[in-house]
Amino acid sequence: MNVPLVLTHFLDRAVSLYGDKVGVISEEKSLTYRELYERVNQLSHGLSDIGVKKGDRVAYLAPNTLEMLEGFYGVFQTGAIMVPLNIRLKPDDYVFILNHSESKVLFVDAELYHLIAPVKNELQTVEYIIVHSKTDDIDEIAYDTWLAQYTTEPFVRPDIDENDVCSLLYTSGTTGNPKGVMLTHRNNYLHALSTMHHLRVSDRDVYLHILPMFHVNGWGAPFYYTANGATHVCLRKAIPEVIFEYVNKYKVTVMHMAPTVLNTLLQYYEQHVPTIEHDVRVVIAGSAPPPAFVTRVEKELGWEFIQVYGMTESSPLSTVSTVRSHLQHLPLSDQYRMKAKAGYAMIGCEVKVVNEHGEEVPRDGKSIGEVIVRSNGVMAGYWKNPEATMETIRNGWLHTGDMATIDMYGNIDIVDRKKDIIISGGENISSIEVEGVLYEHPAVLEAAVIAVPHEKWGETPHAFVVVRSGKEVTEQELIAFSREKLAHFKAITGVTFVQELPKTASGKIQKVHLRNEYWQSIGKTGRYV
Ligand code: ATP
Ligand code: MG
Repeated sequence: MNVPLVLTHFLDRAVSLYGDKVGVISEEKSLTYRELYERVNQLSHGLSDIGVKKGDRVAYLAPNTLEMLEGFYGVFQTGAIMVPLNIRLKPDDYVFILNHSESKVLFVDAELYHLIAPVKNELQTVEYIIVHSKTDDIDEIAYDTWLAQYTTEPFVRPDIDENDVCSLLYTSGTTGNPKGVMLTHRNNYLHALSTMHHLRVSDRDVYLHILPMFHVNGWGAPFYYTANGATHVCLRKAIPEVIFEYVNKYKVTVMHMAPTVLNTLLQYYEQHVPTIEHDVRVVIAGSAPPPAFVTRVEKELGWEFIQVYGMTESSPLSTVSTVRSHLQHLPLSDQYRMKAKAGYAMIGCEVKVVNEHGEEVPRDGKSIGEVIVRSNGVMAGYWKNPEATMETIRNGWLHTGDMATIDMYGNIDIVDRKKDIIISGGENISSIEVEGVLYEHPAVLEAAVIAVPHEKWGETPHAFVVVRSGKEVTEQELIAFSREKLAHFKAITGVTFVQELPKTASGKIQKVHLRNEYWQSIGKTGRYV
């Protein structure tokens, strides 16, 4: 018999096997899985009462809180679709996403209500705004009193098919407007099974939510830690002191975070070693740090470092960098280098690196191609955008737009985004590699490298640089510096000094804007506009 792979199973399992265990700790409150389930039921009854039906969209604007976590299951029980919003967007971005997704209800954390208030009248489909931990000066429905009206008895769920869409997750918008990614129950379910296997999740885990649940990087954690009866610890803001306080107090065993946050933890730890004790077994990061960094995390902090690679369109993860047992005889330095790569295909994922003819590049760790993925996690498509869907998923393969090499062990190493690669005299230059060198210069605070047209070479690298306050540097000095450190064809040929770089809400630099402005300013349309 085929049992539909629906995410509510994960909560059912936790309640049935771990009902009396602490399931969530949020803002000093602890709830068992049974208590969590009762609140989830109240939420589903409430949603149903205000007219939310299967397939409707329900949006959330909240940091990592109990209310956000229970929102997933409360919405899923009704068959509605969860639309989590990034809390670092501008009011106009919320208007775009809420109208584009045609969301009917918006739950918003009181601290974030000011982002919605100025644009409230522009929301075309939102019928209810319900505020978590409301204060008196906000004139909207208060979540706690609203929720308290409803029974904690089980909610009678509609028929939900595993191929029904359960979430609409907007991409970061690094390369253009954010796109609404439709993920089904099946996508998230099978992605969760694969991830829990690779991260060795168990009921002994205490997971600290550092990465936001609304963002694809933190996506999945509400599913696979719940399915295993692990404990969720919610964290509003990722501040090193608070992270270490929680690590100690709640005996955290696992955390996922961006390497930039991990770096701040490392610095904090170095200053406070004698006072910090911890049970952390593993830490997971979603972009490529240098091998030396991996070594420090493993040796100084004693945390196992795992890198993962993915994108919103694949639920998100496709590769993982843990060292397989038959490679553990390799010297530790090689193992750290391996972990600094994005890693190898997870169970349920096929990952290839292909050239422009669709042929796999050799596994030599040098030849560059595009990463393509076929997996259970690959999205049902972009919401209301069939053209972009057809362009991205071709013959069943998700074209990631990320360029990588693949080594003899099947580990991929992300080189750059396809659109960011600079092609100079027929050679591929990774903008990330050139930026890495510029960051070594003491006067450089931030750098972004793009392709600009060149008569002889086709394109050359050009840098946009923000100078550190109190420091000075000239264009010629930076060009000379890059020629010293890089093969000459990779060196920058020009610099534009700027006050700041355009960034997405999650802090990724939007090189597409820099490229468009530069190419337009010299009267070229180029391949990027
Ligand atoms: P948009 O699609 O709107 O332009 P985005 O691609 O930044 O935005 P996300 O889905 O949040 O949106 O990010 C996925 C991208 O992040 C990947 O395509 C890849 O470029 C980058 N990425 C993810 N994991 C890694 C990793 N381990 N190493 C390097 N880059 C990574
Ligand atoms: Mg993308």
